[in-house]
Amino acid sequence: MKSVKAVGAKAEKSPLREFSIRRRGLLADDVEIEIMYCGICHSDLHQIDNDFGASVFPMVPGHEIVGRVISVGASVTHFKPGDYAAVGCIVDSCGSCPACERDLQQFCEHGTVLSFNTPDKYLGGMTYGGFAQTYVCKESYTLKMPHFEDMAAAAPLLCAGITVYSPLKHWQAGPGKVVGILGIGGLGHVAIRIAKALAAEVVVLTTSEQKVADAKRLGADDAVLTTDTEQMKRYAGKIDLIIDTVSASHDVNQYLKLLAIDGSVVLVGLPAEPIEIAAFNVVKGRRSFAGSNIGGIHETQEMLDFCAKHNITADIELVNVARINDAFSRLKKGDVKYRFVMDMSTLK
Ligand code: NAP
Ligand code: ZN
Repeated sequence: MKSVKAVGAKAEKSPLREFSIRRRGLLADDVEIEIMYCGICHSDLHQIDNDFGASVFPMVPGHEIVGRVISVGASVTHFKPGDYAAVGCIVDSCGSCPACERDLQQFCEHGTVLSFNTPDKYLGGMTYGGFAQTYVCKESYTLKMPHFEDMAAAAPLLCAGITVYSPLKHWQAGPGKVVGILGIGGLGHVAIRIAKALAAEVVVLTTSEQKVADAKRLGADDAVLTTDTEQMKRYAGKIDLIIDTVSASHDVNQYLKLLAIDGSVVLVGLPAEPIEIAAFNVVKGRRSFAGSNIGGIHETQEMLDFCAKHNITADIELVNVARINDAFSRLKKGDVKYRFVMDMSTLK
C-alpha cells in the first residue's frame, strides 16, 4: 500500500483541496501508472455536487487518466515501465456475466467498478479517481495509449471520446447519414470530430452563438442555434441521429421533431431530472429516444486507435492543480473551450 497525494472534495459541493489517499500494493495483474494528465468531465462536477444522490465523501474524481507505467505486477505481459497507458471510467467488472461477455462492462450485472466513487474491494471505502499522483489498475482494464502529438489533449478521449464513439458506431453514423450533435462541450466537440471521421454529415445544435461561429473550425458541416425557431425549421425531419450531450434539464421534444423517419435521439448527457416525451414525437416517424453509457474496454481501445489514426484530440485548456476550483466553477458556467485537463505534474 502506498500513500499518494490527491485533490478532491471532502464534502458535497465543497471546494477541492489536497489530501493523501492510499493506493493498493501491486497485485500480480496490476499496472501502476504515474498520472501525467487528467481531464475534467462534467460527470466529475455532477458527482461533487451530488446531483445523482449517490456521492460518497471524501471523493477524488477524475476518469480521463493518461500517464506512464512506473511498475507492473509479476504476471503483467502487455505493459512495462515507461510505456504510456491510460485509465478511463471502468476499472473492473465481473468478467463473466452476459454484459461482460459482450464487452459491455459498463452494464456488468454484478456492478461495474468505476475509477472513482464505487466500492473498493481491495482497500474498503470507495475508489479514488485520477486527480492524484498515481493510479493502480488491473492490466485487463488498462488501455494502451497510442501516440498523439499532444498527450494532454488526448486525455479527454478516455471518457468524452468513448461516450460519443460508442453510440455513433452503434447507431451507424457514416456516409449518407445526417448526424446532429446537441450541446457542444467536452463530449460534443469530440463527437463532431469522430462523426466526421466516420464520414457522416454533421450538424451542430447549440444554444451558444459563438459555437455556431466555431462549428466549421471544429469540423461540422453546418450549425443551428437551437433557440432560433427559424433555424431549427431548416432541419425538421432531416436528421438521422442526434447525440444529446446536454448536462442540464432540457426539452428533448424539439429535437425529436428534427428526426427523419426511423431516426434516434440518443441521450448521453445526464440531467438529474426526468425527461418527458410527447407521444406523437416518437409515434410519428417511428422515431426512437434512447440512451448510451460510456463504452466497453475493447471498444475504448478501438476508439483510442481510431482517434490516433484520424488525428482526433480535444481542444483543451491545460490547468495547474492550483487552479482546479477555478476550472470547476468555469465548467459550471459553461465557460470552457472545450475541455479542462489537469497537469498532474503540478501536484507536488
Ligand atoms: P460540458 O462540457 O459542460 O458540456 C455540456 C454542454 O451542454 C454545454 O457546453 C452546452 O452546450 C450544453 N448545455 C448546458 N446546459 C444547458 C442547458 N441548460 N440547456 C441547453 N444546453 C445546455 O459537459 P460534458 O463533460 O461534455 O458532459 C455532458 C454531459 O454528459 C454531462 O451531463 C455528463 O455528466 C454526461 N456524461 C455522460 C456519460 C455517459 O456515459 N452517458 C459520460 C460522460 C459524461 P451548448 O453551449 O452548445 O448549448
Ligand atoms: Zn466523464
